[in-house]
Amino acid sequence: MTAKSAKSAPGKPDSLAAFDYQSRTRIVFGVDSVERLGELARGLGAKVVLVVTDPGIVTAGHADRVEHILQSCGLGVVVFNEVRENPTTRDVDKCLAVAQSAGIDTIIGLGGGSSMDTAKGCNFLLTNGGRVPDYWGVGKARKPMLPFIAIPTTAGTGSECQSAALIADEHTHQKMACLDPKAAARVAVLDPALTVSQPPLVTAHTGIDAIAHAVETAVTKKRNNFSLMFSHESFKLTVPAFPRVLRNPKDIHARGRMLLGAALAGTAIENSMLGAAHAAANPLTAHYGIVHGEAVGILLPHVVRFNARDRAAKRAYAELASAPEIACVSDGLDSAVEALIARLESLLNAAQIARSLADLGVKRAKTKLLAAEAAKQWTTGFNPRLMLPKDFERLYQAAFQPRGNGR
Ligand SMILES: [Zn+2]
Repeated sequence: MTAKSAKSAPGKPDSLAAFDYQSRTRIVFGVDSVERLGELARGLGAKVVLVVTDPGIVTAGHADRVEHILQSCGLGVVVFNEVRENPTTRDVDKCLAVAQSAGIDTIIGLGGGSSMDTAKGCNFLLTNGGRVPDYWGVGKARKPMLPFIAIPTTAGTGSECQSAALIADEHTHQKMACLDPKAAARVAVLDPALTVSQPPLVTAHTGIDAIAHAVETAVTKKRNNFSLMFSHESFKLTVPAFPRVLRNPKDIHARGRMLLGAALAGTAIENSMLGAAHAAANPLTAHYGIVHGEAVGILLPHVVRFNARDRAAKRAYAELASAPEIACVSDGLDSAVEALIARLESLLNAAQIARSLADLGVKRAKTKLLAAEAAKQWTTGFNPRLMLPKDFERLYQAAFQPRGNGR
């Protein structure tokens, strides 16, 4: 969004915010849709494919299955199965060495957000040369990139619908967001059957992350009528489905709703960015190793409360809460926001997310440092209310109080 278009602030009755979005990703959704992978890859001109995945996906049998599907269509396959959580420049370099030695022409990311990020990072370096920091920022790649197919096995990041690769520096752990439309997947294969194998904690953490994406994208400064469609539909799909996948991991219909909801929230992020919950979560992950979904989840109700003091944001939350019929806007904005917070608390409790920062071993004395770092995060600038370090400090302090039981 340009500075000029930002003037047409969302939330004002007659103004529609400007946006510029081109979908670059074909989305193929359905149980066993992964069986179409060979045909889809060939459609992109593939001859030799690199599959980027992690050891857990190998153990679950998904890597072998994908390899077999591709080979049975006459494609050459190389597998890089050493993806680690929160991938670093070292991981990307290792993946690149495999890609270079095999002479590949297509890349597949199979797994969670880390597999997607490693695959995208590898694609940048393979096609454009240089090092990951060269692509830190927006639109730094000069040459076309190889066709990339994303196959998520978690319902969380929505990376399959985003053009960003998140890679950390191996030594400083600084997370670098490399955004480029050329890095977006050409095809996203959303097969709910592949998400059934997730360990329960992964289902819980990634599910909360997806829901947080719907909530944050629904109120950012960049939100617009196009992004709101995705935020609202995502929220409508995931809120009822999340407790179901926690209770019954084999519920394929609920798994499908979570997977599609996560992808739609990813599309919302591409258009609307994220807000203060993500900004405040990153320092918690960096300093205490708290898993992303848990860090975001623990802060989310507090961020909603803080942002809802802005009238336009309050209305946006109330409209979001109306999508899955948690509340009705006509019954009043305040009660709708309270109902939204209560439902989020209930979902967090169902996912067994820690009830306070104290439970996660975070030290109150560190909140000043955490707040200073949160204020510098990229997503802080998109939060509907201005977030200064003192605001983040208050936010962290609030998250030391155990949250409610929800409803
Ligand atoms: Zn997230």
